[in-house]
Amino acid sequence: AFEPAQRVRAIGVSEILRITDHANALKRAGRPVIVLGAGEPDFDTPEPIRAAAARAMERGDTRYTVLDGSPAMKAAVQLKFRRDNALDFALDEISVGAGAKQVIFNALMASLNPGDEVILPAPYWTSYADIVQICGGVPVSVPCGEANGFRLDAAQLEAAITPRTRWLFLNSPSNPSGAAYSAAQLAPLCEVLLRHPSVWVLADDIYEHILYDGHAFATPAAVEPRLRERTLTVNGVSKAYAMTGWRVGYGAGPRALIEAMAVVQSQSTSCPSSVSQAAAIEALTGPQHVVAERRNDFQARRDFVVAALNRAPGLHCRVPEGAFYTFASCAGVLGRRTRGGALLQADSDFCNYLLQDFEVAVVPGSVFGLAPYFRISYATSMAQLEEACARIAAACEALE
Ligand code: PLP
Repeated sequence: AFEPAQRVRAIGVSEILRITDHANALKRAGRPVIVLGAGEPDFDTPEPIRAAAARAMERGDTRYTVLDGSPAMKAAVQLKFRRDNALDFALDEISVGAGAKQVIFNALMASLNPGDEVILPAPYWTSYADIVQICGGVPVSVPCGEANGFRLDAAQLEAAITPRTRWLFLNSPSNPSGAAYSAAQLAPLCEVLLRHPSVWVLADDIYEHILYDGHAFATPAAVEPRLRERTLTVNGVSKAYAMTGWRVGYGAGPRALIEAMAVVQSQSTSCPSSVSQAAAIEALTGPQHVVAERRNDFQARRDFVVAALNRAPGLHCRVPEGAFYTFASCAGVLGRRTRGGALLQADSDFCNYLLQDFEVAVVPGSVFGLAPYFRISYATSMAQLEEACARIAAACEALE
């Protein structure tokens, strides 16, 4: 019989995928389930981007490219960082992979030795912990409560650093909390990091453009230039340009790290897809108005969902600054019973109840390292969100 390797056994299948699969199975069985699980924009890749890919295919851009990104792709990334973040990178300080996820994977594979620690402010994107473990590292979860807006503070960072700490991950705006750091909120963390020169920073900026209410985006390498020599700034086209299926992401940082990441990539995917790179070049260098338009759509949905959740008895939802997720507390419904007599003891019980009895699929906060909460992805139509929120309210009202 097949025996999976130790490194795979340690992590198991993604809980989000498991919940989504279960919800989709119920749907196939004819139940009208609304799935608010997916972290993916619900609109199509804009036409100019698709057209650039078609032109690339026609002119024969269908071969292997330079392994960590074609020169034109790296130039587009260089331009993006200058234009949006006032960060200057040489082309050999840039790495392009099959999604931000591969870039993060390459970085950890290239840098972690067994037992090295990676600090993950919780709630965090589940994949961080799993990738750290696959790469032989130890995820160190630091719970960041709602009192500080789900943000890490300087004292927590200082306390979490040990001689084994290799990386601090920062993800702003955050999946799952939607919380974002201003430059002023990053500054005290940068101060701590300056005192610990062996700790590197991975800034996952994938939701950079999905930021509301006039909040200004900030990223550590720009806030504290002295950290630039040990920061990998990661971003991608998936979320901003609705390009999840094209699989293009990128990172920029010190040359030695970028070179080590290229070694990993050279023995896994060889290079990102040539056609997808052509599309991503158009996304990064073409007209940017689509980004603002989508942001306005998302903001209207956020406002609706947050207000609806806050009206539901027992739920409480902080207003997130960005991304397309709400992360609401369900502490107020725990200890209650469903009409069927089941006692809700944990956020996963509440999420199960929502799915089984009210046919709405959401993800428990415990999956992201912080309970008792649940995440809604509101990257879906307003009609679906209205129906889903009505069901959630009914579910809360039906508790005894
Ligand atoms: N980082 C975060 C925080 C995400 O939520 C996601 C996708 O869900 C990614 C990275 C991965 O993006 P990509 O499609 O570029 O691999």
